[in-house]
Amino acid sequence: MGKTGNVRENKEHRLPGQNSPTEKRRSAPFRCAGVSHVLANDIDLKLNSALGERYKSEAQRVRVISEAWTERNVFCCSCGGVLARGQNNARVLDFTCMKCHNDFELKSTRGTFSNKLPDGAFETMMARLRDVSSPDFFFLTYDSKSSYVTNFFAVPTYFLDQTVIEKRKPLSPQARRAGWVGCNIVMNRIPEAGRVFYVRNREVLKRSDIIERWRRTAFLQHEPDLEARGWTLEILRIIQSLNVREFTLQRMYDFETQLKRRFPRNNFVRPKIRQQLQVLRDAGLIAFEGRGRYSANFDGSFERSRQSDMHGRG
Ligand SMILES: [Zn+2]
Repeated sequence: MGKTGNVRENKEHRLPGQNSPTEKRRSAPFRCAGVSHVLANDIDLKLNSALGERYKSEAQRVRVISEAWTERNVFCCSCGGVLARGQNNARVLDFTCMKCHNDFELKSTRGTFSNKLPDGAFETMMARLRDVSSPDFFFLTYDSKSSYVTNFFAVPTYFLDQTVIEKRKPLSPQARRAGWVGCNIVMNRIPEAGRVFYVRNREVLKRSDIIERWRRTAFLQHEPDLEARGWTLEILRIIQSLNVREFTLQRMYDFETQLKRRFPRNNFVRPKIRQQLQVLRDAGLIAFEGRGRYSANFDGSFERSRQSDMHGRG
């Protein structure tokens, strides 16, 4: 299947669950699976910390413990399928869904993530963002005293844009890998709507809600162009920064200068804002209240008018 190359032709906006021949492979199995077919397995927050005892390095201990927990407790948020450890030697492929073959990379830490999470080579990460079929992310935090998972959430790779990935300074000429350029993932640049929590502050979320929440952001996978995706993400960040339930189009226009700076090639910022609000409305992330007023709800209580059709298909 063609990856980014072919998807580019498909500019038409589709609802998540509506397949194009070129879209990410996760979608087809989801369409026939449906949420109700999912097998229940309750999430147990307790980690088996004994698994890490034979490892000297902290990083290895965290990795072994959190991988074992994820394998036992976590299902695929795209289709509800069972996850298996990645067979691939490639470091970024930690888990694969047995049903829809979506891949995930697990990042975990004791305590909490710092805002800038060091990752691998900058160019490799940018290539990953440009490829909509790249592995998505799982983030896990735990409390080492109690050995309990405190947070676990998934982020689709298409929810990352250039502003989430920060280029680090090249390694000094004295370094073993002199000149190598790494990157940081800037966590607070990931829009809230793109964080699909399984566990939030030790609270386990409902399985059907997790899958629905993932599905609501899947529309972005049809947009492999990073700048186009960046527009949607930037508008989401702005709405989030307003921190209000209702906002107006006029309020959004206040960010015209900021958006013009971020997207200097675009001379039609206001029409673009309106178009992006439409996109978010179609995805069920905001609602039109009439006369230039909108309401935002990233927690997923908006019912899309077409939702019943979508469940009826399949
Ligand atoms: Zn799956």
